[in-house]
Amino acid sequence: MNTKNVLSMLTELVKLPSVSSTLPSRDMGNIKVIEQLANWLEPLGFAIRILPIAGSPNKANLVATLGSGSGGLVLAGHTDTVPCDDTLWHSDPFALTERDGRLYGLGSTDMKGFFAIAIEALKPFLEKPLSAPLIILATADEESSMDGARSLVHADVSGARYAVVGEPTGLKPMRAHKGIVMKGITITGRSGHSSNPLLGNNAMDAMHEVMSGLMQLRQELALKYQHPGFSVPTPTLNFGCIHGGDNPNRICGQCELHFDIRTTPGMDNGELDSLIQKVLTPVAERRAINIGLRALMPGLAAYEEPENSDIVTLVEHLTGQPAGTVGFATEAPFFQQLGLQTIVMGPGSIDQAHQPDEYMALDQIQPTVDVLQAMIKRYCQ
Ligand SMILES: [Zn+2]
Repeated sequence: MNTKNVLSMLTELVKLPSVSSTLPSRDMGNIKVIEQLANWLEPLGFAIRILPIAGSPNKANLVATLGSGSGGLVLAGHTDTVPCDDTLWHSDPFALTERDGRLYGLGSTDMKGFFAIAIEALKPFLEKPLSAPLIILATADEESSMDGARSLVHADVSGARYAVVGEPTGLKPMRAHKGIVMKGITITGRSGHSSNPLLGNNAMDAMHEVMSGLMQLRQELALKYQHPGFSVPTPTLNFGCIHGGDNPNRICGQCELHFDIRTTPGMDNGELDSLIQKVLTPVAERRAINIGLRALMPGLAAYEEPENSDIVTLVEHLTGQPAGTVGFATEAPFFQQLGLQTIVMGPGSIDQAHQPDEYMALDQIQPTVDVLQAMIKRYCQ
């Protein structure tokens, strides 16, 4: 393994800004990073497919495939980064900077570094044909909408059976995380003079009942679903923000509540909608008030790879660590939907992600190369 190669590739990747943000003014697109990866992989013999993201001309996924057969391996990650506040950085976030055994740069650990290391790791396997495909899969928009991974339902990863999502876990294998559902409830009543309740229909009164109902639902979900692998073993439901009314002497005409539900593996996001609706409908009917429910973002399914699946057994053996669970969401459920046994495992620490002076520790590189090479040997050779 040549550390210099990893450093020079990572320098190039960090140099190409690919911030994704739900704020259109900060959103950049990832196409430059995708093209750079393709430019490195094509000369190595990979078949390159760049899959545009519908409606986003500057965004794409990359599926780069070497070899054919069945039972192969996908090395997957996202090419976008979160936005950054460069005034809080001690070096240029877009110029990879080595200091004290660390590589500082935006995306160095989350997760452009994984691609640089993966490409260096696969080089010894170019000499003779593989018995099953090795696929480098790079996505757009993981940090915002996950639209890249969502559009992968159309991707062709035929011949692959296993996937590593190289998110920063300090190279500890992770085989489960919770799902996320974010909802908004808008109650529209009628305002009027506060001196007589009959002059209006109070949206805040109705919201109070809705919230009580949701707290009841929260308890029911916690009784029904538990997963001992998580530090918070039950699903959660958090009221995040609420806005309603304007003046104390006016009946509140409108009230809006935003909340999220973190689901445990085994829960069905679609079923949640009807459970929430069951809370809302009786309140709306009893109070003759309008209650609307909407998704604030497309939901993300919970993810779990069975503890006895082949890939979990292999990476536990290779790393000497039992597979755990992570507190953050990843693209893993989308790779499972493609029929791949999927593990989340990569270099760097999530503690350094999404904040100023993000870095990848240099000592993460060699162990990552070792694990990836052992996996390629096992699944592709
Ligand atoms: Zn990430």
